[in-house]
Amino acid sequence: MNSTKDFSGIKPLEKRVYLSSPTMHGDEMKYIQEAYDTNWMTTAGTNITEIEKQAAAYVGCKYAVALSAGTAALHLATKLAGEKLYGMAKPNQGTLQGHKVFCSDMTFDASVNPVAYEDGEAVFIDTERDTWNMDPVALEKAFEIYPDVKLVIVAHLYGTPGKIDEIKAVCDKHGALIVEDAAESFGATYKGRQTGTFGDYNAISFNGNKIITGSSGGMFLTDSLKDADKVRKWSTQSREDAPWYQHEEIGYNYRMSNVIAGVIRGQLPYLETHIAQKKAIYERYKEGLKDLPVTMNPFDETNSQPNYWLSCLLIDKDAMCQTVRGENKPLYISEKGKSCPTEILEAISAFNAEGRPIWKPMHMQPIYRMNSFITASGNGRAQSNAYIDEGEAVDVGADIFERGLCLPSDNKMTPEQQDVIIEVIHRCFQ
Ligand SMILES: *Cc1c(COP(=O)(O)O)cnc(C)c1O
Repeated sequence: MNSTKDFSGIKPLEKRVYLSSPTMHGDEMKYIQEAYDTNWMTTAGTNITEIEKQAAAYVGCKYAVALSAGTAALHLATKLAGEKLYGMAKPNQGTLQGHKVFCSDMTFDASVNPVAYEDGEAVFIDTERDTWNMDPVALEKAFEIYPDVKLVIVAHLYGTPGKIDEIKAVCDKHGALIVEDAAESFGATYKGRQTGTFGDYNAISFNGNKIITGSSGGMFLTDSLKDADKVRKWSTQSREDAPWYQHEEIGYNYRMSNVIAGVIRGQLPYLETHIAQKKAIYERYKEGLKDLPVTMNPFDETNSQPNYWLSCLLIDKDAMCQTVRGENKPLYISEKGKSCPTEILEAISAFNAEGRPIWKPMHMQPIYRMNSFITASGNGRAQSNAYIDEGEAVDVGADIFERGLCLPSDNKMTPEQQDVIIEVIHRCFQ
């Protein structure tokens, strides 16, 4: 650790506190056992049909299709959108061939990779400061620059709903469809309605660190029977109705296992318990860190109810010590009264707790270095001073990545453990 701060007197946590690990309740085993006993050890069975019914009823949509991962759900959602907009793909081409798609920029790469799977080109839309999600002003700007775009992929980061009404209004105005990535926000609401129901095509995830988990898994959510049937067909190798294996379309092996579905079936009744635990963690951090030059990840308190999946903090500009990040390594100079994400992450890790940097924006990723990036003031790539404009960061995503971090947000963390983490963060600013 590079830090020169004084951590004396703080005892390291005996058991590691993770960023967000699975929290099991016992019923999961019952449904796994049921799959075993009935020999439905495959991609069909009661667990799958049950969780599809329950998840659809919970979010308030008509159909849910259980898939192997949130990424699979996003891929098929994106493919459906491509097919609707541009017609059926040839066997050797994706549905988005030659077309641009506007995408959330500060997100996990699984949100946007499906555009590449379908041979499209992601154009990244900068982030706003109020919810850390896609900026509707930058989105409108993007339509001015690329008026032909017909698809927008929007994620709700860390369980916080984005500016859904504004984004929908911009998309409606330009006749664009929406793929909603609610992988991190299952259970969060906007104006009383569940995320995962606002897009034309919607995806959630049951990955091991999400608000509830199947160890892996995801779902496609929709009100369209036709779309649900299509996704189910694509996810099971696109078999036609024939006595032999007959194929008119490219297929995928994306269906969920009935064993995984058993885990999710055991977890679903605890979704709201998990949200309450995560909310308590968020509020404890907020209270415990209120005297420091930091703020918590913000949300729209009037219109939205996050699921508080991850608690994050943002360091005030003038409380940042000097720091640079190369492609693979960070460097910082420890400074009295100031700190930075790397110093805090190293310090809490030394005391046995796991944090994480903010998702590094997609426009900063080597793999997407040639893709366009649009900020609220225009083409972010074209500005020689894209990041800093008269002392104001105009590339919001880069700024949040530089000054922000995800705090240990595990459901099972005790208040005493959290107090240790809060104390270590205080020492970082001494
Ligand atoms: C986790 C996640 C995904 C992918 O879900 P998997 O189930 O891991 O494939 C997609 N988008 C975002 C924003 C995520 O956090």
